[in-house]
Amino acid sequence: MTVTTSQKESILKRYAQERDKRLRPDGLGQYVPLTGRFAHYAEDPYTPMVEREPVTDDVTFAFIGGGFAGLLVGARLKEAGVESVRIIDKAGGFGGTWYWNRYPGAMCDTASLVYMPLLEETGHMPTEKYAHGPEILEHCERIGKQFGLYEHALFHTQVTDMAWDESLARWRIQTNRGDDFTAQFVGMGTGPLQVPKLPGIPGIDDFAGHSFHTSRWDYAYTGGSPEGTTMDGLSDKRVAVIGTGATAVQCVPELAKSCKELFVFQRTPSSVDVRGNQPLDSAWFADVSSPGWQQRWLDNFTANWEAFAGVSVDDELEDLVQDGWTDLARRMRDILRALPPEERSAERMMEAFEDADIEKMEEIRARADAVVADPTTAANLKAWYRQLCKRPCFHDEYLQAFNRPNVHLVDTDGKGVERITEHGVVVGGHEYEVDCIVFASGFFVEFGISLAERAGFDPKGVGGKSLSQHWEDGMRTMHGVHVHGFPNLFVVQLGQGAALASNVPHNYVESSKTVTTVVSHALDGGFERVEVTGEAEEAWVDLLETHGRAFGSEECTPGYYNNEGRPAGPKERRNFGYPFGAVAFFKLMDEWRRSGSFDGLEFS
Ligand code: NDP
Repeated sequence: MTVTTSQKESILKRYAQERDKRLRPDGLGQYVPLTGRFAHYAEDPYTPMVEREPVTDDVTFAFIGGGFAGLLVGARLKEAGVESVRIIDKAGGFGGTWYWNRYPGAMCDTASLVYMPLLEETGHMPTEKYAHGPEILEHCERIGKQFGLYEHALFHTQVTDMAWDESLARWRIQTNRGDDFTAQFVGMGTGPLQVPKLPGIPGIDDFAGHSFHTSRWDYAYTGGSPEGTTMDGLSDKRVAVIGTGATAVQCVPELAKSCKELFVFQRTPSSVDVRGNQPLDSAWFADVSSPGWQQRWLDNFTANWEAFAGVSVDDELEDLVQDGWTDLARRMRDILRALPPEERSAERMMEAFEDADIEKMEEIRARADAVVADPTTAANLKAWYRQLCKRPCFHDEYLQAFNRPNVHLVDTDGKGVERITEHGVVVGGHEYEVDCIVFASGFFVEFGISLAERAGFDPKGVGGKSLSQHWEDGMRTMHGVHVHGFPNLFVVQLGQGAALASNVPHNYVESSKTVTTVVSHALDGGFERVEVTGEAEEAWVDLLETHGRAFGSEECTPGYYNNEGRPAGPKERRNFGYPFGAVAFFKLMDEWRRSGSFDGLEFS
């Protein structure tokens, strides 16, 4: 699809208009936590709580969070011979986001062969190119079993305090279950998007019907199950979904099949490209899965996603995954390749990025016209922004759902829902009466909520200084992992590291190697304490600030990727990833680990 210069100009003008329409002075302040009638979200509907005695022992490594971060670190430590590993989670089992998010239709956005970690080690072949939630959750449990991580795990347990005791050279950890134990090393993988939020719509508490957030799906009300059985509790119900992000795109098709009537309230449409899910073939997989295959696939996916990471534009870059994530980069490379070498400047590269993006988004918008029968609905489902301004979505049943007579798109022209009443949802002065409201309104981002609110506790390092005090002006780490004043503590998250959004577990795959290498070095050398120096932390933060990798452009439509369209302050900017990209970061970390000198760390 070729786009002329005047078409490009009018598209960019439309992008700016659509963004301006959505800018709000309250930014992230428009969202509210789940309290009052939604407070049940803190309870676990999936696993009954089991009474147990408090633990008061000592472990080598305690990890807070039983999602992919904790599972990967735990598995690698066990492989390295560290036996005493304890994972603590407020959920009733492993899985993190996949434990809580069991909404119908939940599946992974990223191809399962790169998204699901430790496939090679567990020998598991995913059933589909994009695995569904229950299979991913089961895989988390598989990792837990295979690596013996259930043995010391504490589930349904919320850490309330974690403090460094210099005299013991240990962390002291206390929980809401009365536990009070020590650990030589601790890790934190409490998740980037784990605290659900609601839009602060006036009247939200007045609704007399049923309502819940997607991350705490109420199957007792809807009937059905995460495995996809029909939600027969909804056959006589009028249901509203508020929000049209990645979660809504997955659950709307399922709701459409079950509800008497479904009203989808949209503020900003998602870009919804082709998914093309398919079962994986075991003969093909046997061919693919030669030793070392998953690391090769991970590296290949990330290199393709970054388009120019360490490869010349003329080099053939094999694309193993071949999906919507790598497609944009492939297009950029093609545009640049068509130019003579002397014209391939950095400026032209940015232009190629823009041109590839416009071409791609025009195709996605054309898809809405091709799939959706009603022209007004099709027009309203078109996303007017660059593809990476919001989480790109891929689905083969979402747009199609709007062709069903029981499904209605209620577009709010960027304004959002006006009001909620006792009986339903108001948009443009019209009240849509419903029995149930499903909030697909997402999660607080890291800089939108304090560390203590996000994690449930605030670690206290040397001299009792809390991590949130240390991070008062924004995150400070070396490599996104080590924090000065917090010896023997490792944060396992995206910021100040690769910040690779296309495949979040890949970040943790690499961090788990770093944590394990450092811990093994300390244990083998008989060191009690390892800490990043203040200078090394400062140098890393300086590097990030000097080169400032773009994080959610202000030109984008507002959302959590770009601080709701407000200029990023120093705090938000500190959440940037390594300026030279994920491939370069992983290479740097590999060399740093191999060097054995662990520059920046002090062992004692
Ligand atoms: P999002 O934050 O992406 O979406 C929230 C939705 O609520 C947006 O459409 C937003 O509109 C809308 N909204 C907010 N306020 C209002 C209002 N007042 N009136 C109407 N609509 C409103 O949350 P999701 O749960 O969809 O996704 C969160 C993240 O989780 C994703 O970005 C992705 O990273 C991850 N995810 C991953 C999946 C995977 O397969 N791996 C699947 C699902 C989610 P607006 O856009 O205008 O702000």
